[in-house]
Amino acid sequence: MAQDDKPTREQAEAAVRTLLRWAGDDPAREGLLDTPKRVAKAYQDWFSGYGEDPADYLKRTFEEVEGYDEMIVLRDIEFESHCEHHMAPIIGKAHVGYLPDGKVVGISKLARVVETYARRLQVQEKMTAQIAQVIQEVLQPRGVGVVIEGAHECMTTRGVHKRGVSMVTSKMLGSFRDDARTRAEFLQFIDVGPGR
Ligand SMILES: [Zn+2]
Repeated sequence: MAQDDKPTREQAEAAVRTLLRWAGDDPAREGLLDTPKRVAKAYQDWFSGYGEDPADYLKRTFEEVEGYDEMIVLRDIEFESHCEHHMAPIIGKAHVGYLPDGKVVGISKLARVVETYARRLQVQEKMTAQIAQVIQEVLQPRGVGVVIEGAHECMTTRGVHKRGVSMVTSKMLGSFRDDARTRAEFLQFIDVGPGR
């Protein structure tokens, strides 16, 4: 996802100084002198997902799993992302499950997939679907389920100022979508859904 017209570090820092002036402050005062540099560095961390392909994490699989064909669930994967509408943080947890069809990945790889998508500007619904789709495409399991709970700071710190609200999104593919029992088993594992 690299662009050829990527701005230079100096241009990025100049843009931060513009925003500081826009906010009403003076970028030349002592406390703010290094802020553009720090913000640019923070961006490299928050948005490092653009330089990675999540599919790469899923390519190394284990096929010697003694015929294990039950559901695999990784729950409470904490993530930090940023909404693409306000560039404000989205803090949340993702739960990922799949029913393997011969191929299993190291469980930390599922967390890496979540992290890579989170470290881009996001819409929670889109991120939920992207995670499910890449697992479906690369691992080709019998089904995939992804549930994300996210608190959106663009909603808690501005606009309607509602705290303690989290948004829940889900994407179910294959048997997770078509088989109510599989879906119920997954939701029971992650403890999200009716009666929580
Ligand atoms: Zn937003």
